[in-house]
Amino acid sequence: MIPFNKPCNIGTEHEAIKQAMNQQKLAGNGPFAEKCSQWMEARLGCEKAILTPSCTAALEMTALLAEIGEGDEVIMPSYTFVSTANAFVLRGADIRFVDVTPGTMNIDPDQTANAITSRTKAIVVVHYAGVSCDMDRIMELAEKHHLWVIEDAAQALMSSYRGKPLGSIGHMGTFSFHETKNYTCGEGGALLVNDPSLIERAEILQEKGTDRSQFLKGVVDKYTWRDIGSSFLLSELNAAYLSVQLDHAEKINANRIRSWNNYQKGLQELFDQEMLEGPHIPEDCEHNAHMFYIKTKDGQERSRLIAYLKEQGVMAVPHYVPLHSSDAGKRFGSFIGEDRWTTVESERILRLPLYYGLTEKDVDHGITAIHKYFQK
Ligand SMILES: *Cc1c(COP(=O)(O)O)cnc(C)c1O
Repeated sequence: MIPFNKPCNIGTEHEAIKQAMNQQKLAGNGPFAEKCSQWMEARLGCEKAILTPSCTAALEMTALLAEIGEGDEVIMPSYTFVSTANAFVLRGADIRFVDVTPGTMNIDPDQTANAITSRTKAIVVVHYAGVSCDMDRIMELAEKHHLWVIEDAAQALMSSYRGKPLGSIGHMGTFSFHETKNYTCGEGGALLVNDPSLIERAEILQEKGTDRSQFLKGVVDKYTWRDIGSSFLLSELNAAYLSVQLDHAEKINANRIRSWNNYQKGLQELFDQEMLEGPHIPEDCEHNAHMFYIKTKDGQERSRLIAYLKEQGVMAVPHYVPLHSSDAGKRFGSFIGEDRWTTVESERILRLPLYYGLTEKDVDHGITAIHKYFQK
């Protein structure tokens, strides 16, 4: 069976973990965390990058930093992971779900504009499959209405929009290093703070509401309780594992892109014959091959294709159930405007196996199986 995902492993992670053990510093913000932060700050050109236990935790930090409270409205796509919404629901916000554009499954800027009210505080964009949202339109809207822009870039490390790395465009950006993402340490994440006025508070929130990070830099001689906060730190053991993956980021990216391009080439004929639809990458976007998805005619055909591929030894999986149709989504938010694409398109999406080290032979096997299904 070709699995849908295999956690990325370069092969030398255990040496870095051993080194972390020898340095006698295992808590957060140690030397390996510092190395990962510096890598992100240099590679992404952001003001400040801090490691968190997950993207979920980083999103919770953005809600605290944006001072979202009871009755505030936050706009986001319904087609996303629960954490995008949960982070703001935890602060008492009303979630305003809007439609996506079908080509990218990213938030529709027109629907976003339509959902803005005097209570709107933030727009949360999700770069689905590592392909950028229309950031020029979103930033323009945010500036006009004085809103925060938070990029849920969980899937988008190493992707860019008009040459700008994703995660570094809005006021804040978040990444995930969960085992299903391109770069991993099992569970982990990062917060990019692009607005310099938020950096000091971000460091305090991360360290349980204390100024411990200033203490470690020698700026203050003891650390004290300064603000609300939590333990938003990543263990050094995880940071050590992650540091190896970031050191090999170009190699991992190239390997994934090769598989992605092979899928695209191998299925092009079926896209041309309109048996299936393939992913759409807008001209301004450079993507990171986080995901290769196809769209079947409808949900029933998707179920049949999943079953057939399983018989052929290929694990293909659907993705999000739109949040506005879930129990919690109905309780904590509402859909604004027409659900023209979110529900129908979400029922057609099927993700194919894609991970670092996936062989060309396995990609070919998947492509052949899909062709065989449509010849039947
Ligand atoms: C994976 C993912 C998350 C959650 O990441 P964790 O690190 O598991 O918390 C959030 N948003 C999106 C869009 C994701 O793909």
